[in-house]
Amino acid sequence: MNYYSLNHHSPKVNFSEAALRGQAPDKGLYFPESIPQISKDFITQIQKYSKEEIGYTVMKPYVGDSITSNDLQQIINETINFEFPLVRITEEIYSLELFHGPTLAFKDVGARFMSRCLGYFNRHAYHRTTVLVATSGDTGGAVANGFLGVDGVDVIILYPSGKVSKIQELQLTTLGQNITALEVNGTFDDCQAIVKQAFMDNDLNQKINLTSANSINVARWLPQQLYYFFAYQQWQEEEAPILSVPSGNFGNICAGILAYISGLPVKHFIAACNANDVVPKYLATEEYIPKPAIATISNAMDVGNPSNFIRIMELFHQQFSELKKMLSSVSIDDALTAETIKEVFQKHRYTLDPHGAVAYHALNNYLKNHSGKGLILETAHPVKFPDTVEDATGKSIEFPEQVQHLLSAEMKRIAMNANFNDFKEWLMNR
Ligand SMILES: *Cc1c(COP(=O)(O)O)cnc(C)c1O
Repeated sequence: MNYYSLNHHSPKVNFSEAALRGQAPDKGLYFPESIPQISKDFITQIQKYSKEEIGYTVMKPYVGDSITSNDLQQIINETINFEFPLVRITEEIYSLELFHGPTLAFKDVGARFMSRCLGYFNRHAYHRTTVLVATSGDTGGAVANGFLGVDGVDVIILYPSGKVSKIQELQLTTLGQNITALEVNGTFDDCQAIVKQAFMDNDLNQKINLTSANSINVARWLPQQLYYFFAYQQWQEEEAPILSVPSGNFGNICAGILAYISGLPVKHFIAACNANDVVPKYLATEEYIPKPAIATISNAMDVGNPSNFIRIMELFHQQFSELKKMLSSVSIDDALTAETIKEVFQKHRYTLDPHGAVAYHALNNYLKNHSGKGLILETAHPVKFPDTVEDATGKSIEFPEQVQHLLSAEMKRIAMNANFNDFKEWLMNR
């Protein structure tokens, strides 16, 4: 499989080069030259296959010769070695729980796959690679955990002091080994600005081999398709599901649409957004107007200009009319999000996190005027957002087993001003 740049001014590359570069030299996103088709037989008999077999069948065409079959199978097995249960909430609405991985976030799958691919591609390299990640909470933990112990790779995480939840901070700061956490005295935007400047700085790039692990990388984007196959494998209803996906950078839903175009049965997609409503506005007006991000209680979706939307447009041949048939999008504010957590807990005894609540509200509304049944992708464990969730339900949330050990672990972080030169000096001299 080759990948072209969506800006069309860079050469085509194979999977390994696309994963190692992240972005094409012309700053475009990489996109697969053709969309592999999954056979009808495979889909109708999907219950017969293990999730490891599904993973290999879906990913192999995208990876091509970049990784040997045995190594790819092993990478996939390690990537998905936890559960992805589909849980019924009401007659019409199910929850695909994507928070059973090591950092309780759906980003675990993309991060684990990508880190193992980079480890594989770097296996003979003599130079260390340094991954820089700015995080508002969730991404950093998943990436750091994915790269923990990978040879030849150092990970540096920048997070805004006082703006991540307790469990998120524990996840970022207690890993040790090749993972270093910087507690930045500033906002998430400050962290991101420092990382962006680092990638453009000549001195730094001459001395250190810097890479990013953000969601535009094909190795993080493509394995997210597996959630949709795992959901379908557990789907017992007659008609294909309506899928409601909490969306920020639109990588996850874009992977779902890719799975659909490969042959997976889906009735309709809903991109559920918080107050950051660029895409809902676009679908209503056909005008795409990026805005600065607004802070919300579903903060992993606080994105004002979703990077992956261009890939969704490409999947629909840049045709607005094709896109509109298959995709709806709505914006849900914080008050409704909190109200939804409360209502679903009281009526159905199911605890949503703020991101899942946005998706639930969007789907529940959609089903008021459309027939069918659907599922939400529950992208994070509610314990990661304890203040919002406990306020809404009036009940405290227990720490799940995966994170119990964190409570007694020692936090190690380096305090840093929100200042590029301080960061650069620290990085050059470490
Ligand atoms: C990253 C994230 C999202 C948004 O996913 P995108 O692929 O960026 O649209 C939703 N929920 C949670 C919990 C996340 O961490």
